[in-house]
Amino acid sequence: MTTDLTRLHAHAQARVLRSGAASARELAAAHLDLAERQDHGLHAWLAIDRDRALAEADAADARLADAGAEDDGALDRLPPLLGIPIALKDLVSVRGGQCTAGSRILDGYRAPYDAHITERLRDAGAVILGKTNMDEFAMGSSTEHSAFGPTANPWDLGRVPGGSSGGSAAAVAAFHAPLSIGTDTGGSIRQPAALCGIVGMKPTYGRVSRYGIVAFASSLDQIGPFARDTRDAAALLHAIAGRDARDSTSSPVPVPDALLRLPTGDDEAAATLRGKRLGLPREYFVPGMEPGVEARIREAVAALEAAGALVEEVSLPHTEYGLATYYIVAPAEASANLARYDGIRFGRRIDGEEAVLAGYLATRGELFGAEVKRRIMLGTYALSAGYYDAYYLKAQKVRTLIKGDFDALWAQGFDALVAPTSPTVAFPFGARMDDPVAMYLSDACTLPVNMAGLPGLSIPAGPADGLPVGLQLIGKPWSEPALFSLARGYEAITASADWRSVEPADLVALDDPSTPSPAERIATRVA
Ligand code: GLN
Repeated sequence: MTTDLTRLHAHAQARVLRSGAASARELAAAHLDLAERQDHGLHAWLAIDRDRALAEADAADARLADAGAEDDGALDRLPPLLGIPIALKDLVSVRGGQCTAGSRILDGYRAPYDAHITERLRDAGAVILGKTNMDEFAMGSSTEHSAFGPTANPWDLGRVPGGSSGGSAAAVAAFHAPLSIGTDTGGSIRQPAALCGIVGMKPTYGRVSRYGIVAFASSLDQIGPFARDTRDAAALLHAIAGRDARDSTSSPVPVPDALLRLPTGDDEAAATLRGKRLGLPREYFVPGMEPGVEARIREAVAALEAAGALVEEVSLPHTEYGLATYYIVAPAEASANLARYDGIRFGRRIDGEEAVLAGYLATRGELFGAEVKRRIMLGTYALSAGYYDAYYLKAQKVRTLIKGDFDALWAQGFDALVAPTSPTVAFPFGARMDDPVAMYLSDACTLPVNMAGLPGLSIPAGPADGLPVGLQLIGKPWSEPALFSLARGYEAITASADWRSVEPADLVALDDPSTPSPAERIATRVA
């Protein structure tokens, strides 16, 4: 094989496996070798499990061999992800493996069971390479809140990959895996996808079972795919979506096979844009948005119009309240969800002087990071007697208004909305760490989508000053196939753009063993 297997999309890797030109073991090994060689400078991974991955790859090879020995159609009937490597954010339970959620409090904890999506990925024959870095309990927009040190952005190792699923996004952008899993409570899939120049989708609330995922804010959390193109992201969503009785919020709405049939040809894909009615919400061009980001989004809109889409400026009048209401609702739910980390049930414990309470306080006091404590205090306050009505209940009412803004547009017949994913490109390490509100503003364009439970997708729209910009597409509930088809159309009309074939600039530096780790880089800069 002369082709570098790691550079292929998952659908192309699947063809290679079926043709017999490479085995699933070779495919897994190529990715493991790259990840192990380069991760010092990137720190996308919290765990790489070579032995387990190779065993899973061997099992995939056995399934391929069996199918190859059958009739001609047997290979085509195999699941699309069979033998394809994947990375999981380190809050997805994999039986017997670590699941830190980026926190010291879960250091040493081993998951006693598989998450629903882990079972689904096993059934599909995907090969789990390991677990990726993240902001502690998914609270953050930069992965700098990981208790295990930050992840770098492959486009510029001095900058953040976004967050909270920054490890999963960086791993895919750096070709360490063709696919990865993230979670998105307020933007944690779409924003890192944008900042790393890849595709990421937050599905409709209820599309994917949250069973076996470490919970942050249960009414907002959704699991979703990262990939380097739309077809791969859609295929991964297809593999993990669907009703699971163990998550009462997971929906019985059928998972459309259309997710597996996005057009392969660019002409066919571009044609699907014709006549589509898209809204451009004016409130998403927020103050503080970088001119380079705005320019790329306006160009993307012009390209969509040139391909026959009808783009109209629209208004989502309650957008300005999104951030404030999110930072009541999400911390309130987090304060309840994180009560279980008491030093007794999970992970690590710091023993207190005498009574149980002292151990509880010592464990939570020492093992939770500053951002997590900030959220727990905010949330506990918002839920306390006397303040509940003023804050939590009020926030829930405003949440209904935010959802109502979107509903009004769907009622007018819009197919989807187009918007920026993030107001800025990837920012330097440390830029927002001393100012929580500046960090929170990273998600001004993504949070309302979670508040309304809608599907949202980010797709690369070209660089600004050499750093990726993401175009966000927002759809009505359960419209993931339509959203992916629009994204596939946009991908097709920009297929020949120069920037499409440019690899992240700092991948070369990752091959140099003297490249510092992100933590070392920050330490030397501060010193
Ligand atoms: N950045 C947002 C927060 O800190 C969203 C995080 C997420 O989606 N998990 O809460």
